[in-house]
Amino acid sequence: MRIDIITLFPEMFDGPFSHSIVKRAQEKNMAEIHLHQLRDHATDKHRRVDDYPFSGGAGMVMMIEPVARCIESLQKQRQYDEVIYTSPDGELLDQPMANRLSVLSNIIILCGHYKGIDERIREHLITKEISIGNYVLSGGELAAAVIVDSLVRLLPGVLGDETSALSDSFQDGLVSPPVYTRPREFRGWKVPDILLSGNEKLIREWKNEQSVRRTKQRRPGLLDE
Ligand code: SAH
Repeated sequence: MRIDIITLFPEMFDGPFSHSIVKRAQEKNMAEIHLHQLRDHATDKHRRVDDYPFSGGAGMVMMIEPVARCIESLQKQRQYDEVIYTSPDGELLDQPMANRLSVLSNIIILCGHYKGIDERIREHLITKEISIGNYVLSGGELAAAVIVDSLVRLLPGVLGDETSALSDSFQDGLVSPPVYTRPREFRGWKVPDILLSGNEKLIREWKNEQSVRRTKQRRPGLLDE
């Protein structure tokens, strides 16, 4: 999978993309992530990328020309399955959406800043808008990093069997059961006996029961779906 990210702050991705699973996915050539500095596509000599909003009001708006130039220069090089804009009013990211996106070959993610991007970009060049939650961030970079992490860990071979994404919360419409490791007892806090019983059938049933119970308590909406 190839992911092209258009951003005013490429350095913000140094941390999230250079550790752990996203790093490993790139090393194994399962994910190719390219960062593009939007300012490099500015059309004037001051490398301007934002301007005052028509009709006034607070905040600056990201200009059309640099964004259009950047997206279209990428599209000349290859076919993209989606051109995504990170936006608080976009479709909410959830596991089914991450699953669907993870099978695509090439995607662009545009990170907004200031008051957002000129609406005409959204109308004409963006194919999908994604929000990571009903709150406002100062820029799209953190949202893009969240989206990329959620997709990349699903690519075949990125996670080993021991951490298979299929056993994670939401994959079967339920949240995960609780997990424990050694020691068996700490300050009198015990691991449930059943997990030490060695009876695979009972353990499977217990985990399933826990998942259902927790889903009812914590995410009842998942059961309605
Ligand atoms: N004025 C806009 C918010 C702009 S925030 C509004 O009220 O909708 C600046 C940028 O941060 C946005 O353009 C978007 O790219 C990003 N952003 C902010 N919150 C986000 C969220 N919850 N999910 C995804 N992107 C978000």
